[in-house]
Amino acid sequence: MAALSPHLRQATPVVVDHAHGCEVFDADGRRYLDFTAGIGVTSTGHCHPRVVAAVQEQAARLIHGQYTTVMHRPLLDLAERLGGVLPDGLDSVFFANSGSEAVEAALRLARQVTGRPNVVVFHGGFHGRTVAAASMTTSGTRFSAGFSPLMAGVHIAPFPTAYRYGWTEEEATAFALQELDYLFATVTSPHETAALLVEPVLGEGGYVPGNTAFFRGLRERADRYGILLVLDEIQTGFGRTGRFFGHEHFGVRPDVITIAKGLASGFPLSGMVTSADLMSSAWPGSQGGTYGGNAVACAAALATLDVIEDEGLVDNAARRGEELLAGARQRASSAVGDVRGLGLMVGSEFTTPDGGPDGPRAAAAQQLASSKGLLMLTCGAHMNVVRMIPPLVVTADEVDEGLRIWSDVLAEV
Ligand code: PMP
Repeated sequence: MAALSPHLRQATPVVVDHAHGCEVFDADGRRYLDFTAGIGVTSTGHCHPRVVAAVQEQAARLIHGQYTTVMHRPLLDLAERLGGVLPDGLDSVFFANSGSEAVEAALRLARQVTGRPNVVVFHGGFHGRTVAAASMTTSGTRFSAGFSPLMAGVHIAPFPTAYRYGWTEEEATAFALQELDYLFATVTSPHETAALLVEPVLGEGGYVPGNTAFFRGLRERADRYGILLVLDEIQTGFGRTGRFFGHEHFGVRPDVITIAKGLASGFPLSGMVTSADLMSSAWPGSQGGTYGGNAVACAAALATLDVIEDEGLVDNAARRGEELLAGARQRASSAVGDVRGLGLMVGSEFTTPDGGPDGPRAAAAQQLASSKGLLMLTCGAHMNVVRMIPPLVVTADEVDEGLRIWSDVLAEV
């Protein structure tokens, strides 16, 4: 009998039997409040009845069509429906299964349409685990350790992580943009740069929101040099930050966005979205895959979009997110150096008395919370940020309950 790989790291000891909304139950019926949402995926809550019904109905009609062989209705309907929520001018979508694949699709497109080899990524960014995506990931060496050489042509510029530098947001932003210009002057010519790839809020890198001046600076440089601005909205999309897409907070116009996670309530579905112009300039046949745009996953996504709209989940994420952020700030102990976030992405960064990262204490807090019935995850280069990412259906009472448990945890660790 085969066993699971010993290298799979499980953040909690929980074996889930069933789940509804923000609640997860093990086989003994023990209840956990889920502030992980399957790493920001189950935005409509676990097993939302409308998603379940749509999936059951679709599975009985057609499970797999394969879009380069035969087209199917759920895929066409989803592409059309996404048109109603995507940023203006981004009207062409390629579907895949995972976030990493969507990021690689964006990389292929950017290189093909610009004819340039290089990509600039931003320190602390996470873009996936396939080799090209891992090569563009700088949120922790654990994501690329031991399988070098990585893909060539990736250059790293700073993200405005004010807390890490001990600066104001303005200082951190000015530094980040100056360093980007310096990188262009010294390491990679902007004329050889195909794309700037960046998250609106650093996710795995520690829940650090970007800001308007930073994204405006990126947009200006992208326009000046003919570089594509690729925003990785895989964790921040579909209402997670309290706006439909994370970049809406910063008023920036992307050339390409990548989507996944919250798109299909847990079914494997991702996408790379750009203008019809750019999409048609890419090399024909160079994008594809066996399972991308699976019919059942597309049906789940259509139901997810209905639920997000009908239940006002973007607005709920904004309100509950403010409560969660304010509550986590209020409860922060001396072990927590910073609490930050946007919408329902809230991170508490653990620091040692001399201000260094305290990963062990963050891990202890996260473990203790699990034992008290609150599921959370850690993130950040040093795994010293405990993050809360509840489903977007989270209620005010559930936010209170989570914060009560979090207070007890902070008092004990
Ligand atoms: N980009 C971002 C911003 C992500 O948060 C993630 C997943 N955490 C990915 C890409 C990779 O997605 P996947 O794990 O589905 O490949």
